[in-house]
Amino acid sequence: MIPNPPGRGFAQNGAAWSFAAGPSRLPDAVLARAGETLFRRDAHGAAAIERPFTGDDFRAALADARTRLVRLLQVPEHYRVLFLAGGAMHQFAAVPMNLLDPAAGLGNAAYADSGYWSRRAMQEAHRYANVTVAAKHAGSTPLAAPSLSGWKLPQGSAYCHITANETVDGIAYPVLPDTGEVPLVADATSCILSAPLDIAKFGLVYASAQKNIGPAGLTIVIVREDLLRRPATAAPSPLHYGVQAAQGSCVNTPPTLAILVAGLVFEWIEQCGGLTAMAEVNRRKAASLYRTIDESDGFYIAPVAPAHRSITNARFHLANDTLTDHFLDEAERQGLAHLRGHPHVGGLRASLYNAMPEAGVDALIRFMTQFARRYG
Ligand SMILES: *Cc1c(COP(=O)(O)O)cnc(C)c1O
Repeated sequence: MIPNPPGRGFAQNGAAWSFAAGPSRLPDAVLARAGETLFRRDAHGAAAIERPFTGDDFRAALADARTRLVRLLQVPEHYRVLFLAGGAMHQFAAVPMNLLDPAAGLGNAAYADSGYWSRRAMQEAHRYANVTVAAKHAGSTPLAAPSLSGWKLPQGSAYCHITANETVDGIAYPVLPDTGEVPLVADATSCILSAPLDIAKFGLVYASAQKNIGPAGLTIVIVREDLLRRPATAAPSPLHYGVQAAQGSCVNTPPTLAILVAGLVFEWIEQCGGLTAMAEVNRRKAASLYRTIDESDGFYIAPVAPAHRSITNARFHLANDTLTDHFLDEAERQGLAHLRGHPHVGGLRASLYNAMPEAGVDALIRFMTQFARRYG
C-alpha cells in the first residue's frame, strides 16, 4: 500500500473535509485499499467481507490486526487485546459487570467526572455498583480535567474509571492520575492511537472504533490478565472478558468488516511512522487551530485551559453566538463539514483524528481567518 502521509501536500479528492466526531474520516489510502481487497471476490469466489469468522482467512486477518495493534501501542505481554462487538457504551456496562467482585470485597466503583462521557459512564455504572465520584472537574472556565490531587478511592474500589479524552467537552488529561493499587480503567475512544499511550499504567483501556480506528460496530478492550480472574458471573458471554480472551474474541460473530478495516488502519499508521509520528502531526494540527482561535482577538473562544485542550477534539465558539449558524452554512459551502458542537455544550468543534491531514486543518484555518475578517 502506498501510504498517504498525514503531513502537508496531501491532495483533497474534491470531497468535503469531515470534522465529524464519529464516525469520522478514514485515511484515503485505507478507503482505496478496502475497496480493492475487502469488497472484491478472489479466485475462490469469495470477498474478504464474505468469509466466515470461523475460517482460517478471517482468523489470520484478526491475528494480524491484533499483532499490529500490540506493536503500535507496545502492549505488554501480561495484557490481552479483545475485539468486541458494540460501542463504548456497551463497555460502560461491561466494565462494572466484569470488574466488580463484591464477594471479594470489591463492590465499589470510583469514577472521575471530567465531562459528558465520564458522566454517561458513571450513570450506567450506577445500575451495577456503589459509585464514588473520585474527582470532579471544576466546571468554571477555563475548563480543565479534574485536579490530580485528593482523589477519593474508598476501600473496596474494584477500579477507578476515567475518560482520557472528553470528546464533547474537548478536555484531555495532560497527566494521568495515579490510583495506586486500584486498577485505572480508561475510556480512550476518542484519543487511542492519536499518540503513544503507556498501557502499563492501566488495568484496562477500551475504545470504540469509529473515532480513530475504523468503522462503527467494533470496540477494542485491552485488559491486564489478572483482572480476567474476577468472576463476572452476570456478564453475558460476548461481553465477558475472560470468556472472550479464552476464545480469541470469537465467542460469537465478531464485527468482521470493522476488524478488517481496522487492520488496514493499523497498517497505515505503521507506514506513516507509528504513534510518535502520528502524535507529532496531531499536535501540530491542534496547535495551529488553537493558535488561530487564541489570536483572533476574541472573535473565536476556546473554553478549555491550554494544558487540558484535546488534540483530537478542538472545541470553540464564536463570541457572537448569533453568527454560529451562518459560520456553519458558509463552512459547509466550502467543503468544511460537521463542525457543529455537540448539542450538550453547543458552539463548534473540529475533530482532528489521525485521518485528517494538515491540508484539511489548513483549509479550516483559512476559512476561519477570512470569516473573522469579514464579521469581526
Ligand atoms: C463516542 C464516545 C462514546 C460513545 O461511543 P459508542 O461507541 O457510540 O457507544 C463513549 N465515550 C467516548 C469518550 C466517546 O468519544
